Amino acid sequence: GEQALLATRDLPARTLDDLTVRLAGNIEFAEEVPSLIAHGGEAVGLYRTEFLFMGRSDLPGEEEHYQNYRRILEALAPRPVTIRTFDLGGDKLPAGMRVTAENPALGLRAIRYCLRQPEMFRAQLRALLRASVHGNLRVMFPMISGVAELRAAKHALRQAADELRAEGVAFRQVPVGIMVELPSAAMIADRLAAECDFFSIGTNDLIQYTIGIDRQDKDVAYLYKPLHLAVLRLLKLVCDAGRAAGVPVSMCGEMAGEPVNALVLLGLGVAELSMNGPSIPLVKRVVRAARAEDGRALVDRLLALTTADDIEHEVQAEMARRF
Ligand code: PEP
Ligand code: MG
Repeated sequence: GEQALLATRDLPARTLDDLTVRLAGNIEFAEEVPSLIAHGGEAVGLYRTEFLFMGRSDLPGEEEHYQNYRRILEALAPRPVTIRTFDLGGDKLPAGMRVTAENPALGLRAIRYCLRQPEMFRAQLRALLRASVHGNLRVMFPMISGVAELRAAKHALRQAADELRAEGVAFRQVPVGIMVELPSAAMIADRLAAECDFFSIGTNDLIQYTIGIDRQDKDVAYLYKPLHLAVLRLLKLVCDAGRAAGVPVSMCGEMAGEPVNALVLLGLGVAELSMNGPSIPLVKRVVRAARAEDGRALVDRLLALTTADDIEHEVQAEMARRF
C-alpha cells in the first residue's frame, strides 16, 4: 500500500540494467516542497511561477519573486530546481490580467507575452538570478517556437545579468533550457539544442498542438493520445537530438507521471521525469523493475505500428508481460 510505496523514497530510480533516471516534481506553490520530498522527489523539474499571480489583483514584484524562489531553492539544495518563467495566457489567466487574444492557446502567451512585457519579464529574470546563489537553479522558458525566440529570451536574461553585475549584486551562471511543447520546436530540436542547456518536453501542450485538440475540451478528449504516432515520432526526434548534442532531455507533461508509459520513456532516453509528487513512488516501482534495453526494443516496435490504439495495446501487453 501507500506505506510500502513511501518506503521506496530513498531508493534510487535505477533500472535493472543500471540506467538511472531522475524523478522530479512539478509544483505550483512553495508549500508543496515538503510533500514532494516525502514522496521521494529528487528535484523540482517544473515550478510553474505563473501561479504567483493567481487569486489576487495586484502584481507580484521582483522582491516577492526573489523571496519565493529563494525559499524553494534553499529547501531543495543541492538538488536542482527548474524554474519556468511565466507561462501566462492560454489556460492560465489571473484575474485582472488583460490578454485580448481571439484564441488564447494560439495568442500572446508565455514567452511571447513576456517578450512583449519587458519590464515584467525583467523583474522575474532579476529575481531568478539573485536567487541563484541560494541553490541549484535551472531557468526554463515556456512555449519556445523557434531559435529566434530562444535568442530573444536569452538576451533578456543577459541584460538582467549585466544590470546586476553593474549594481554589484551577486548571482551565478545558470543552465538555461526550454520547454519543448510546440511541434515547431520538436521538429527543429537539433537547432535548438545547439543554443540551450536542456530540454523539458511538455506533453500537455505538445499533444494539444500536434493533434489540434483543445486540452480542456471534453468533446475532443477522446482524441487526446500521448501515444499517437505523430506524438511518438516527435518525442523520438527530441530525444535523439538531445542525445546527439549532449543536451539532457526531461519530460514534465502529465505523460511523465503515468506508470504505463515509463518503459517507453526509458526506451526513448528521457533522463528526468517530472510529475506530481504522489505519482513518484509508482513510477519508481516500474523503473526499478524495468530494463532500459526492453524499453528501446519496445519503442522500435511501436514506431512500426500505425494507430494510437495499436500502439497503446502493444505498450499494455509489454507492461503486462514484464510487470
Ligand atoms: C505541458 O504543457 O506539458 C506542461 C508541463 O506545461 P503546462 O501544463 O503548465 O502547460
Ligand atoms: Mg505547457
